[in-house]
Amino acid sequence: MSKLIERLIRSEIRDLDAYQIPDAAGLIKLDAMENPYTWPEGLRREWLEALQAVHLNRYPNPWGDELRAALRASMGIPDAMGLLLGNGSDELIQMLALAVARPGRRMLSLDPGFVMYRMIALFTGMEYVGVPLRTEDFSIDLLALLAAMEREQPAIVFIAYPNNPTGNLFDADAIVRIIEAAPGLVVLDEAYAPFTDRSFLPRLGDWPNLLVMRTLSKMGLAGLRLGYLAGPNDWLAEIDKTRLPYNINVLTQVSATFALDHREIFNEQTQQIRAERSRLFAALSGLDSVCPYPSETNFILLRAPAGQAGERFESLKRSGVLVKNLDGTQPLLEDCLRVTVGRPEENDIFLAALASVL
Ligand code: PMP
Repeated sequence: MSKLIERLIRSEIRDLDAYQIPDAAGLIKLDAMENPYTWPEGLRREWLEALQAVHLNRYPNPWGDELRAALRASMGIPDAMGLLLGNGSDELIQMLALAVARPGRRMLSLDPGFVMYRMIALFTGMEYVGVPLRTEDFSIDLLALLAAMEREQPAIVFIAYPNNPTGNLFDADAIVRIIEAAPGLVVLDEAYAPFTDRSFLPRLGDWPNLLVMRTLSKMGLAGLRLGYLAGPNDWLAEIDKTRLPYNINVLTQVSATFALDHREIFNEQTQQIRAERSRLFAALSGLDSVCPYPSETNFILLRAPAGQAGERFESLKRSGVLVKNLDGTQPLLEDCLRVTVGRPEENDIFLAALASVL
């Protein structure tokens, strides 16, 4: 490494491995929590027509006003709450961290949790505090969490509700205790909202320090990169100052507005995914040597026999199926694989390949 790089690039960045995205060419892609369904041909044509009105020579609407109105109506965001858009919810996490970061400031979350919280804490110079979930069922150890908040005084707490990569939904009463005891902001990350019936969105405004973040990625628009953050206006007005101008491009604004106008397609797809999740879970539960964990998301975490996750992952890949190998990423995820719920025929191929490995 050149001396200049060594001198200029912060050591914590140099020590990082870049976010790994595996090559999925030719494989059944069950690794990234995408919706496996596409749009009917007629709808695709209508969407392409809508795109013809877009002027690529002009900057987009800076706040995505039309899209925000469509989101408010479609997602039932309380009228009194503000709404901020991000280039994926990843960008919103970064905007939130940028708004509160200062040397010594802490971000707290649960481990294992969504990896970008820890990464963004590091990018923005915050200290990350991870409170371990319970080993048996990945539930929150409330006493340990309350003690950690008391000790660490985090400026911001991120909780994925339901959680990635474990798939479970935390106890709502525990979440309320956390919101009430937190010394700073609490962001509930409801990325997997389409796959659960629970949400804190209708309770926004009940506490002055609660924000709810969501994304259109898991619903079926991962390629557009659109996340949204809802909460009290005075918080969002400050966080908005960390947003880069025109962060939501014109194609995303028009396409997402169009898609929300046809929400019923996504609702149908979500129902199919939920039904497949139940079938996949039952089938996995029937296999002797893997243990699937209950899921309120569009993926299932499963534990392989000790020391065998890597081998299973590779052998699934040889059979044409890409899942996520979480073994070695976190003590609680030893021997774990995560599989995204695909189309029925994809899930069948996955199940057959897994059973043959076993
Ligand atoms: N939050 C959670 C809990 C996630 O699992 C993900 C995606 N894996 C995201 C946020 C980021 O979603 P996006 O940037 O696509 O909106």
